[in-house]
Amino acid sequence: MSLTPDQLAEIEAARANPRQTLRATSPGMEAHLYRAHPVLDHGFIRVIDYMGDDSAIVQAARVSYGAGTKHVSNDEGLIRYLMRHWHSTPFEMCEVKLHVKLPVFVARQWIRHRTANVNEYSARYSILDREFYIPEPAQLAAQSTVNNQGRGAVLEGAEAARVLETLKRDAASSYDNYAQMLGQEGPDGEPQQGLARELARMNLPMNIYTQWYWKTDLHNLFHFLRLRADAHAQYEIRVYADAIAATVKDWVPLAFAAFEDYRMGGTTLSAKAIAVLKRRLKGETVSQEDSGMSKGEWREFEGIWG
Ligand SMILES: Cc1cc2nc3c(=O)[nH]c(=O)nc-3n(C[C@H](O)[C@H](O)[C@H](O)COP(=O)(O)OP(=O)(O)OC[C@H]3O[C@@H](n4cnc5c(N)ncnc54)[C@H](O)[C@@H]3O)c2cc1C
Repeated sequence: MSLTPDQLAEIEAARANPRQTLRATSPGMEAHLYRAHPVLDHGFIRVIDYMGDDSAIVQAARVSYGAGTKHVSNDEGLIRYLMRHWHSTPFEMCEVKLHVKLPVFVARQWIRHRTANVNEYSARYSILDREFYIPEPAQLAAQSTVNNQGRGAVLEGAEAARVLETLKRDAASSYDNYAQMLGQEGPDGEPQQGLARELARMNLPMNIYTQWYWKTDLHNLFHFLRLRADAHAQYEIRVYADAIAATVKDWVPLAFAAFEDYRMGGTTLSAKAIAVLKRRLKGETVSQEDSGMSKGEWREFEGIWG
């Protein structure tokens, strides 16, 4: 994570000046406010602001005048009920605003989550920093042979070294050209006008870092985490989702526990899958051919139920 001493001082100054409020606060989230959690080699997530806590979910579900209920166990039961029955609007009453620094190719996957408010660093207005995501050797893997959208065995030896070298060389070279095109001096020191920032950026690679503020509500954040903290998501976005999940766990512990149980740890069963399970419970041996499921469905079903 590359925060400058000035940026770190700004964060600590913001934390050194607590304000009193009548609003619901979450002690777990207060501990995270403003601080940057490192992700990948130069990235981070930071919580800039949030609204609501576990009791705000309960309060909204009951449309009550004061706090939710007097008993944590009642709150927990209600939150689990809401999660179990996809009664999602009470979760939308909680909001979070994050500052995220991430490689552009990760941002392209992230931005597909439309139910959020985004404001990105302007590379028309500002000059991008010389920061590129270079994977750890353990993440430099070959194309998967079983999953078209995944990676397989880790590259080794000369090939791994060559790939790393290429990534670093191309990043350095394209940034040098970017800086050269922007500058007021040509390659031989002659004066030049300098290309507009909005044009010079176009030959920068997708592993350059960008930044944005990203605000969403808890229901849609859970949806994001369900998809991106999952083993099927690309590692480089998954580590961001994992870092966010760790803060959400501290923010709304009861809601997060219900989410982990029903969404991350749970599964949806099709009518065909339920029929197969019932037949198996009666002692019948069922194969894919007489299950009514496709090979792919059966593979996933067997992956869970064995
Ligand atoms: C493992 C993985 C692989 C993927 N591969 C690809 C790929 O190869 N190519 C590709 O293009 N994308 C791919 N995606 C992106 C994926 O298709 C979704 O665009 C992305 O996950 C965002 O999900 P979402 O639309 O549900 O989220 P959001 O945009 O946050 O929307 C949340 C929910 O709101 C509703 N909603 C939002 N906007 C609308 C709308 N305009 N109309 C109707 N309902 C709406 C939907 O119910 C939606 O589920 C991949 C995602 C994952 C996790």
